[in-house]
Amino acid sequence: MSCNEKIAIFPGSFDPFTTGHEFILRTGLNLFDKVIVGIGHNATKQGFFPLEKRIKWIEEIFSDEPKVSVVAYEGLTVDFAKKHNAQYILRGLRTASDFEYERAIAQMNKTLSNGLESVFLLTTPELTPVTSTIVRDIIRHGGDASIFIPKKLDKSEFCLANSVLGKK
Ligand code: ADP
Repeated sequence: MSCNEKIAIFPGSFDPFTTGHEFILRTGLNLFDKVIVGIGHNATKQGFFPLEKRIKWIEEIFSDEPKVSVVAYEGLTVDFAKKHNAQYILRGLRTASDFEYERAIAQMNKTLSNGLESVFLLTTPELTPVTSTIVRDIIRHGGDASIFIPKKLDKSEFCLANSVLGKK
């Protein structure tokens, strides 16, 4: 690692990773030397898609991009950033309420750490309404959410059968 390397973590649940996330991460790659996608999870609370699938999908989308790595983590985001020598937290903003929520977390994270800086990016207007929650709802009700899923992925993976619910 060079001393001046700018390292960011991009934390989230990515359940699943959408075109909105992809835009934020690709834009972040213009700003940072390395971006570590951190899939925050809780061992006692399962997501909609299994953690292993969520990791695999992001690795697949960025398989040609050596600046991206994907890691699952539990616990405080500031500890995750410290472990990976990151100086920045990358997050996206969609709405004004996102901003209020993110501002509080970013300021707390900065206080808890040694000046860890949060960087917020916007997507294009078409991508602003894309959320994992809506994508999950579409899938849960048998709809086709493929336009909200990054192009590189096999769309057949995004069905209820591949979710945690489908396995029950
Ligand atoms: P979390 O549950 O921590 O918000 P998400 O996986 O939902 O995790 O999102 C990760 C990050 O990506 C968040 O900063 C979120 O605001 C951002 N994001 C997700 N979708 C969009 C979008 N369509 N436009 C801008 N930012 C987005």
